[in-house]
Amino acid sequence: MENGLHLYNTLTRKKERFEPINAPNVGMYVCGPTVYSDVHLGNCRTFISFDLIFRYLKYLGYRVRYVRNITDAGHLEGDRDEGDDKFAKRAKLEQLEPMEIVQKYTIGFHDVLRMFNTLPPSIEPTATGHITEQIEMIKGIIANGYAYEVNGTVYFDVEKYSNTYNYTILTNRNLEDMMANTRELGGQDDKHGRLDFALWIKAKPETLMRWPSPWGIGFPGWHIECSAMSAKYLGDEFDIHGGGMDLAATHHTNEIAQSEACSHKQPAKYWMHTNMLTVNGTRMSKSAGNGFLPGELFTGDHALLTRGYSPMTVKFFMLQAHYRSTLDFSNDALEASERGFRRLMNAISLLEKLSPSMETDFNIDELRNKCIQAMNDDFNSPVVIAELFEAARIINTVYDGKAKISALELDKLKKLMNDFVLDIFGLKDEESSNIELNEVLNMVIDIRKSAKENKDYATSDKIRLGLQSMGIQLKDGKEGTTWTKA
Ligand code: AMP
Ligand code: ZN
Repeated sequence: MENGLHLYNTLTRKKERFEPINAPNVGMYVCGPTVYSDVHLGNCRTFISFDLIFRYLKYLGYRVRYVRNITDAGHLEGDRDEGDDKFAKRAKLEQLEPMEIVQKYTIGFHDVLRMFNTLPPSIEPTATGHITEQIEMIKGIIANGYAYEVNGTVYFDVEKYSNTYNYTILTNRNLEDMMANTRELGGQDDKHGRLDFALWIKAKPETLMRWPSPWGIGFPGWHIECSAMSAKYLGDEFDIHGGGMDLAATHHTNEIAQSEACSHKQPAKYWMHTNMLTVNGTRMSKSAGNGFLPGELFTGDHALLTRGYSPMTVKFFMLQAHYRSTLDFSNDALEASERGFRRLMNAISLLEKLSPSMETDFNIDELRNKCIQAMNDDFNSPVVIAELFEAARIINTVYDGKAKISALELDKLKKLMNDFVLDIFGLKDEESSNIELNEVLNMVIDIRKSAKENKDYATSDKIRLGLQSMGIQLKDGKEGTTWTKA
């Protein structure tokens, strides 16, 4: 991939040369978390993958506007506009307001991503903050004849849309097969076609999150927020739209349909999808109950973990797989990643101790080119890591006095490690960073506080004893909890 960045486009099912619509500006939209519960490690994998993409685009000199939304309304349990509202259900369970749930898990999400040293997006819009934009878009879709209202709920007319557009463009499925595999409509159904989906849903008497609209009191459907917010901040046509591959078949398919039905434009030039983090071959998910919370991973407090691993070890483990490959979680793989990450960090710390010679045994430009070529080949981070291990080998050989490096090449080597390890991968040395420890502990203390508030004393004790065994003493006082190193 010598001629610039190539990325795999789900829409065309091939790797394409990246040509932004309005270079050097790049617009990128990534579907963010649904903040009705803690993010698990699978969610983190997707956001870490797009952080890598964001960082590399910036490294190439693009001015990236990265929009990642927060879904804080309108998410029902079923994929087909049915079931309970996830936020309301959680609010009832935790005896909180729905917006308290949103606040709590948004903060938790930010804390976790900060621990993984990901960069904040340029804009992080929320669904509840963009109800007006969603209503306007639905009005546009109705005006263009692609949606209809029944009894306070507005549905998207997939059949009508399919007469002009290709509804399955993203996944290349056969529309007739899809129809055949979708439940037949019964007498109770208001929608006209089996594949029709809701843009606006009429509130029930018990619905907590509700807004006025031209169709009565209700709330937006699951998909319209991303169409409305991407158009608002990136325009009707922008460069990259991403998310986990589980979103392609329904959420992104419907997003394309909504945007085209409103503006007659296919919203994104490149659609990118990350593959899933699995546990023993099964997708990690909130509903399957196999989702580790990052906090559990760091303390090792989970039935599937033999011990805890640091955030950078976990991030390194993720970067060792290509974002389009599945990645299976295992203690052995994490152990290996921990060793690999340490090897890299040790090599970086030796860099300052190397003395240059007049001669050189190494050509660092060649190594950098290999790293760039790998990144240009659809962000191939595992290949870059193999090259960085080669850089670590060079550093160790020179340190051991078994080879020589010139001042010029040594500078290039330092820059290479800085660019790829710190800037592009966003890895950092944890041992030398006390701020990080502070952040981690504050989050753990916070989790313990919530556990105590929920009278979950088993968890709060587990945290206190777990920290104690690591030599960290918690002290509860009037002003809150503080910690000291034993
Ligand atoms: P959610 O909070 O469920 O809306 O998910 C947030 C993001 O995480 C979406 O882009 C999902 O596609 C992604 N995601 C969910 N489960 C996994 C997983 N096991 N591995 C990787 N990404 C995932
Ligand atoms: Zn979305």
